[in-house]
Amino acid sequence: MLTVLKNARIIDCTGNCLPRGDLSFADGRIVEISQSPLSGDVEIDVEGKTVLPGLIDCHTHLGITPTFYGFAIAEQENETATAVKCYDQCLSLLRCGVTTVRNMGTKYDADITLRNMIRAGTVKGPRILASGRLLCITGGHGNALGVECDTPGEALRAARGQIKKTADVLKMIATGGVLTKGSVVGAAQLSLEQMRAVCQEAQRTGKLTGAHCIGYEGTKNAIEAGVQSVEHGYAIDDQLAEKMLAQGTFLSPTVMAVHVLAVYDGDDPVGVELREKIADIAADNERAFKLCRSKGVKIAASTDMGTPFIVPGTLIQELAKYVEFGMSNMEALMSATKNGAELCRLDKEIGTLEPGKIADLIVVDGNPLEDILQLRNIIMTFCGGELVYEA
Ligand SMILES: [Zn+2]
Repeated sequence: MLTVLKNARIIDCTGNCLPRGDLSFADGRIVEISQSPLSGDVEIDVEGKTVLPGLIDCHTHLGITPTFYGFAIAEQENETATAVKCYDQCLSLLRCGVTTVRNMGTKYDADITLRNMIRAGTVKGPRILASGRLLCITGGHGNALGVECDTPGEALRAARGQIKKTADVLKMIATGGVLTKGSVVGAAQLSLEQMRAVCQEAQRTGKLTGAHCIGYEGTKNAIEAGVQSVEHGYAIDDQLAEKMLAQGTFLSPTVMAVHVLAVYDGDDPVGVELREKIADIAADNERAFKLCRSKGVKIAASTDMGTPFIVPGTLIQELAKYVEFGMSNMEALMSATKNGAELCRLDKEIGTLEPGKIADLIVVDGNPLEDILQLRNIIMTFCGGELVYEA
């Protein structure tokens, strides 16, 4: 069955925008994009609307409650509650136009099970690249969602354990974080040797890697170990950015996650404590983002969904921040499509609108090239050609 979206503004996210055209897809894949009218078995007139590739969020935590108490809740929560939350967030992601997530740490490996169920068509949801449990040191950042390991041998064993469970991504904790009690923010955690063991195993088995990086030393270790993406990356300096560029290391910036804490003006004691913890990081965040961009380091949009206030739709505000930090609207859109697909090593299949690619598409009421926030007006989301959400 050939479906045609007619009279659309088509932003293909290779850098081009067709002001008015038709896009057809069949059997889950894009068939043709044309300025001339196409005909099909099903024709949907989207006059005045914009068609883009489905959005990709390269850093989520399915199953975590996006409040100040998310980690504390996760510690208490059983498997069923975690799974239900993961599924609920998946449906929200579809409503927000997100068709792929790289999930970077979920308790009970619930994301792996959910990925399989979505793949099998049992439930609706975005494509998930799942890490399952993350890898951290004993008592380290994120240990509520992690496998604890303290030597290179233990790290290798933990990595193999996750690979055995069919994880797609190995998420490492290179430094302390803001949200874990007792973990010193930014202090190096997994060692260079541990992360090297994990990265080598990932390379050998074709898995993706990413490392939570806040402080300088741990960030440097992760880059030297050969991690595929630096998550957060607030401590990146000239030298590290150049090394990232040379190696092809991505920045996954999660700008909003820091911003919302930095501007928190409520009186929740945990919120106030987090705001103080984050004060120094918030300024570094913008500086590191601009530095990486100016050096040509690839940036893949990411939110850290599941951390306080970071919900499925936050990706749109995240992109608005990138525009505020100097990206063009097209560049910001490409960070959440083309670049995300490259980081996920799915760029042959998704991330741009081209004949032959999987029909992960969104229809937006408005023009995000004029105002990026118009991405909030998602009226249709298609995953592999299947309409999975309609406003
Ligand atoms: Zn995270």
